[in-house]
Amino acid sequence: MRYLNTYDFPPYRPPNEAESALIRITRGCPWNRCTFCFMYKDIRFKAKSLEDVKNDVNKARQIYKTTESIFLGDSDNLVHKELPEIVLYIKKTFPEVKRITAYARAKTILKRKMEFLKAVRKAGLDRLHIGLESGDAKVLDWLYKGARPEEMIEAGQKARKAGFEVSFYVLSGAGGRERWKEHALNSARVLNKAKPDFIRLRTLTLKHGTPLKDKLGKGEFEITPPLERLKEVRLFVENLTVEKCFLASDHVTNYLWAGGAVIYRGVAGKLPEDKKTMIETLDQAIGLIESENLEIKDSNRLYEEGFFTAL
Ligand code: SF4
Repeated sequence: MRYLNTYDFPPYRPPNEAESALIRITRGCPWNRCTFCFMYKDIRFKAKSLEDVKNDVNKARQIYKTTESIFLGDSDNLVHKELPEIVLYIKKTFPEVKRITAYARAKTILKRKMEFLKAVRKAGLDRLHIGLESGDAKVLDWLYKGARPEEMIEAGQKARKAGFEVSFYVLSGAGGRERWKEHALNSARVLNKAKPDFIRLRTLTLKHGTPLKDKLGKGEFEITPPLERLKEVRLFVENLTVEKCFLASDHVTNYLWAGGAVIYRGVAGKLPEDKKTMIETLDQAIGLIESENLEIKDSNRLYEEGFFTAL
């Protein structure tokens, strides 16, 4: 299918790619089964033809007069057989670009031969954003992530060996009330072995129409309340031993509100240098909630109240 005069760009990108030019290589998610995810549910997966992608790259060039970074959508571009050629074309069309990044599934990284990954890296794709969500096997099962903890470790190591910068997402709250401690400890364990360059925290926000939200409705899943979630993040940070890694909480779902004001914005910093400061920040937020009789609102509550629509 040709996209005529429209410029087909990805509907989602990481927050730190807000200034980036967006180019779509694939549409949707080839897996599309994670129980918490709503992102591509209505999109049938498709790897776009080389011709369509080149057309979009040329149109993007007309829109973005200059850009330092480019993000490639959608969720798992490493499935595209012509990705090395596509990235080369993008680099040629945008010679000024300093960083090209994309989402990637751990399972796809494992399936791809090292030669392919290296070819993609050599062509100019710099960074892979990988959804770990949790390092706990049971939690990964109920999220239906399609990869086990040891596979997540192997995928992270393989991507780094191929020369990519690796950014792993962790879904705070994914363990629910039942497994927040295991979720924290095992996520730290996996990341300590995978040794990513970045760790990005998101908070599980249950959207209508997702299987996990249905489980919540049936009483089969219990959301981790804000105070326990802060303790979960504290336990997680405390157990991280990674080095030369940046931890970011660059998403509004990590915020906590009380009386209409933000009382917590998440923790961020270099690891291991800023670990102590991050733990102090978490202790302050925990202390505030425990000592004051505050009504805390999190992203789940605000979503239910209609303040957040897409997260
Ligand atoms: S979380 Fe990622 S892998 Fe899972 S369904 Fe959503 S886009 Fe696909």
